[in-house]
Amino acid sequence: MSFIDPKEVAMLTFYVESDFKQRQMRQSPVGLHVDGFAEWLRAAGYKRRPGQLVLRGAAHLAHWTSVRGVPLDRLDAGVLESFAGHLRTCACRHPFRGRDRYQRDGAQRMVAYLRRVGVVPPTPAEPETVLPVVTRFSQWMRQHRGVTESTVANYVPLVKEFLAACGADAAAWTPAACGRSSWPGPAGMVAAGPSRP
Ligand SMILES: [Zn+2]
Repeated sequence: MSFIDPKEVAMLTFYVESDFKQRQMRQSPVGLHVDGFAEWLRAAGYKRRPGQLVLRGAAHLAHWTSVRGVPLDRLDAGVLESFAGHLRTCACRHPFRGRDRYQRDGAQRMVAYLRRVGVVPPTPAEPETVLPVVTRFSQWMRQHRGVTESTVANYVPLVKEFLAACGADAAAWTPAACGRSSWPGPAGMVAAGPSRP
């Protein structure tokens, strides 16, 4: 059978036809990953020309970081930002040089791909800013009400909502400032607590 499923061909050849250019790409510091990356681009629907340009951007990033001694597993948002700065004045001599928008896109996509295949570690989740008053509230609930973590977790969003509406300065908390006609009375407070029979 001469029929070959195009998906089974090394995917780089879909975007880069010339053997010479394929070799250049494979010999670039990101060469080991170009086929997987090209396959990923193909799956994402990149047509031939934009895909070529994105691949160039990826190889450009790899060259730029390699001469600076930054290994692939250290590519992160900071590196991408510096690279975007470099693109404005790029005077590289290698075949992947360029300043068009695909360069930046290619660099970003390459890092996303490397993260996906586990070369670049996952982005650390943004630590959520927890106001000290929320932390103190949670501690108080655990200590004085003896509630479980899941109960604390249920209350925390309400506290945050309250703080968003009324601000973190307790001295300024008045029913009017918080859009209420009055505070809930003690009965309401007790009803909300776990100790009511
Ligand atoms: Zn450059």
